[in-house]
Amino acid sequence: MWAVKTPTFTASESASACAKGVRDKDLRARATKSVDQFQANSVTLQTAIHTQALHGVTSAQYKVAGLSDDELKALYKGQLSRQNSKARHLYDHVMSNALHSLCSYCQYGVANTLDHFIPITVVPGLAIDLWNLVPACDRCNKHLLDAFDYAAEHQMLHPYAMPASVPPSARWLRAAVHPGPVAAVSFHADPDSSLDDLTRARIIHQFTRLDLGVLFQVVAARELSGTCRNLAERFPGGKPQPVAAHLRELSDDALAADPNDRRGVMYEALATDEWFTTVGYEVGIEPATG
Ligand SMILES: [Zn+2]
Repeated sequence: MWAVKTPTFTASESASACAKGVRDKDLRARATKSVDQFQANSVTLQTAIHTQALHGVTSAQYKVAGLSDDELKALYKGQLSRQNSKARHLYDHVMSNALHSLCSYCQYGVANTLDHFIPITVVPGLAIDLWNLVPACDRCNKHLLDAFDYAAEHQMLHPYAMPASVPPSARWLRAAVHPGPVAAVSFHADPDSSLDDLTRARIIHQFTRLDLGVLFQVVAARELSGTCRNLAERFPGGKPQPVAAHLRELSDDALAADPNDRRGVMYEALATDEWFTTVGYEVGIEPATG
């Protein structure tokens, strides 16, 4: 649900580079002969991405004449993704586009792998198409595995083309504060009501599918203990107004750069929570001495 820079190398360049590295002469010749087909398929793919029509994908649309499914998969594993292969610079190029070097799906984990947006098992013909490769973290990659949703309302948002109804300022991530012996924050997807119903449903589904609520809550628990300690030191004795103002400042800074910045969303929820700004930030914190 974060937009990522699109690949600038073409599918012909990817197919040619992969073909060059193939040792088997017959396979190399067949792969080389199919370069134009890879390019034509990529045009079809990019159109489907831009028109938000990926849920209608079929393997037949992306057949590459002369290459079997196993051979197509091997071009990815044995060429594009293999260290020191003739095509590896293309893999690295896609990886280098990762937003803040982080996962395109969660913006938390380090991007250290490329996810096939349409799984290689679903459409082998898109195994080496750079537009089908998305920088991701291990966790999200494992969550997605080989499953693919064919329902329009369950279609994941492709990071290379957000729906036209989603402006860069669109907000979908929100947090809630939970009072207790120790303050806690949970996260949920609640996209702006200005977005169309289908897009809202897709975002909510993607948030659930990737289990982002659990991930963000665990991460926030650690960050929140540091935030509470800091606030307790700076504002001892329950000072709701300066505490709220300080949190609002932290929130504004983070959300100005990314309207769905996890920390910004957390600070915003904390700033507007009366329990937290009055007593919650000092709960469980040793009083400052000296
Ligand atoms: Zn991730």
